Amino acid sequence: MSAQDISASLAQQRFSAVNTRLHNAVAHSQREPGSVKLLAVSKMQTPQQVAELYDLGQRAFGENYLQQALEKQQALPSLDIEWHFIGPIQSNKTRDIAHHFAWVHSVDREKVAKRLSDQRPSNLPPLQVCIQVNVSGEESKSGVTPETLPALAASVAELPGLQLRGLMALPAPTSDVSAQHLSFKKLRELMAQLNEQLSTLKLDTLSMGMSGDMEAAIDEGTTMVRVGTALFGPRPPIA
Ligand SMILES: *Cc1c(COP(=O)(O)O)cnc(C)c1O
Repeated sequence: MSAQDISASLAQQRFSAVNTRLHNAVAHSQREPGSVKLLAVSKMQTPQQVAELYDLGQRAFGENYLQQALEKQQALPSLDIEWHFIGPIQSNKTRDIAHHFAWVHSVDREKVAKRLSDQRPSNLPPLQVCIQVNVSGEESKSGVTPETLPALAASVAELPGLQLRGLMALPAPTSDVSAQHLSFKKLRELMAQLNEQLSTLKLDTLSMGMSGDMEAAIDEGTTMVRVGTALFGPRPPIA
């Protein structure tokens, strides 16, 4: 077997293992089959690795670093991929994000939201966005606080270039399963409260759960798990 064949066969094993985990968790939590979407987080991975998963049927890919993402997109022009931006957003990067992605999960301030909306090309559908919420309360993490969320949601919902779809959380990593549940439950409750308080909103997306905690997220109602290492293996270090 060539190195390329070995890599493709490893990708297939990981892809099928992740899908098995996902299906088992959906069944175990008595969720509707097909109610949890798999986003493949391909940061630090090569275009070839993205193409391997694409060949297995994966279509949604998430990237954290804009420059890397744009290079990958240029290397794979013929693939019909739905690209999601999931990393921190600097306001001088909003134009490229607005032009080259279908989704953004990490909106956490009005200035960035407004720029994304203004810069979204009018021939593309509105950018699908989630607001990132800091549910574990650490100072270092990005995301709005639960207290400032309603005001930001109300203003994002007014922006014509954006469609507010839901909330995203990146809780502090922990192997404590009950702590995982607490963070995810909090995000689910925040979305339910928003839908209740702002009757014009119809938020339907909870972006939560990664390689280490997707079962807890599925149990708490996630609609999109963002999975990197379980699909691609360990990431190469940031250069
Ligand atoms: C890296 C990353 C992931 C994937 O994490 P894994 O533990 O590798 O599955 C998901 N979401 C965000 C925002 C990330 O930065």
